[in-house]
Amino acid sequence: MIDISTPASRGYFTDAEMRCGCAVCNHARSQGERAPGCASNMRLEFMAHLNRVRERVYCRPMPIASGFRCEHHPEESFKRRRAEQAGKPWIPGDHPSGVGVDVRVQGSDAHALMRALHVYNWFHIQNNLPQPFTAICPHQRGRQQGRFIHIGGNVEAPGRPRPWLWTY
Ligand SMILES: [Zn+2]
Repeated sequence: MIDISTPASRGYFTDAEMRCGCAVCNHARSQGERAPGCASNMRLEFMAHLNRVRERVYCRPMPIASGFRCEHHPEESFKRRRAEQAGKPWIPGDHPSGVGVDVRVQGSDAHALMRALHVYNWFHIQNNLPQPFTAICPHQRGRQQGRFIHIGGNVEAPGRPRPWLWTY
């Protein structure tokens, strides 16, 4: 049994890895101004789940390749433009909702992290609670440094089925 209710003993993720790293945000920071995409835009409940998984189930480092993304981030502005061109509403994904991270892992670490996230979800199912991680999606091709597992915590919305599995 793992403790899925009390907080982890500490926060394992830094503001620097959780904040948006887009050009607009970086420029604002370089000017001493508040950037649109801060680490504090991440939802506290999602971060609590991530910290518990890190401390109690996975028990290994979880380097963050991408955390919060503001609307100016190229990945998000691309998705919004694509939706506009298709005449569809833009549904914010996990990163701009403050409930998404990409963890830079591959090989056996990637296997163990996928297992840890599903085990953590399973404990919630056993307790009649919603699954905290509604997207556990591997990108495991190409150069090793570019590989990651996306972890998302969004709830279902029109145009955004959850839980869901996709690959890259
Ligand atoms: Zn940004």
